[in-house]
Amino acid sequence: PNRNSVEEAARFMQQHDRFLVLSHVNPDGDATGSALGVALILEQLGKKYVVVNEGETPAKFNFLPRFDRLLNLEKQPLDETFEAVIAVDCADESRMGDVRSFFRSDASLLNIDHHPTNDGFGSVNLIRTDAAATAEILYDVALAAGVSFNEELALCIYTGLLTDTGGFRYSNTSPKVMEIASQLLRYGVKPGEVAERCLEEITFAHIKILRLALQSLQLSHRNLVASITVRKEDFAVSGAEREDAGGLVNYCRNIEGVEVGVSFIEAEAGVVKVSMRARDRVDVSAVAKQLGGGGHAKAAGCTVRGSLPEAQDIVWRALGEALGVNSHE
Ligand code: 5GP
Ligand code: MN
Ligand code: MN
Repeated sequence: PNRNSVEEAARFMQQHDRFLVLSHVNPDGDATGSALGVALILEQLGKKYVVVNEGETPAKFNFLPRFDRLLNLEKQPLDETFEAVIAVDCADESRMGDVRSFFRSDASLLNIDHHPTNDGFGSVNLIRTDAAATAEILYDVALAAGVSFNEELALCIYTGLLTDTGGFRYSNTSPKVMEIASQLLRYGVKPGEVAERCLEEITFAHIKILRLALQSLQLSHRNLVASITVRKEDFAVSGAEREDAGGLVNYCRNIEGVEVGVSFIEAEAGVVKVSMRARDRVDVSAVAKQLGGGGHAKAAGCTVRGSLPEAQDIVWRALGEALGVNSHE
């Protein structure tokens, strides 16, 4: 794919007047912080925009500026189409969900992302796989666009950095991440408050779904793989929503000696959302890509069509090949 510079991305924002801004389905802190960060940059440039997601954005992010401008397309379809589109944190077009119908046929698309599996689907592609978060790239775009930083823009970018580094703990926590974060604190970001909302606070429904999910915890592949399974009924029983099931996969990966943690979440009958987290031995983005998904070396995912046992069979087989160990060993 062609690779473009931050200056070209900034020019894209300056050249058009009206934008559709979007991130990925089931948005996380980086997707939401980056989409709203783009919105704030566009405002400073005197541009008009609509910011959308295919579904609902988790309410935990409602401390972010312009959160109330985020449209949920499942509830509120748009009544216009767009000539300029900005996609953030999306590795490929399928991650955008069902928003393509609002692009004009001749639409130009700016693709800002940090996933190694990004296939360069934009007309302008600002892809930096060394960036810990899309928000890290956005920091440079804001500088190149000449906008001034304030607490609101800083909060959006900080939220992306904080969440995609797992609270500045994952191996993607580079000197640059810490330098930008320190700069953002000078604009007034309150790190304790952001961490409380993004990392500490959990819903009661999360604990209830966790309690059910832990009963399914199992080891395979000579105890190198730990898996957790959430059935569709578990959501009904616990009253949890899909967003309440986030983070379950970390309990698997964190077990001593485990190389890969996996969660199998039955989103609807015949559709299983798979999340994988790795220590060192396996590049789970390669495994996910093989199964039609993508992500990063240590955090990746895919969606498998089939029953839970079918999804487990497919994923465990692929992990067995990657580890050189059979699932039943
Ligand atoms: P999660 O497991 O938290 O949903 O996602 C972990 C990482 O993998 C994120 O970087 C996310 O963007 C990526 N990812 C998850 N599911 C998919 C998928 O179905 N397709 C692609 N391309 N990436 C995914
Ligand atoms: Mn993301
Ligand atoms: Mn990201």
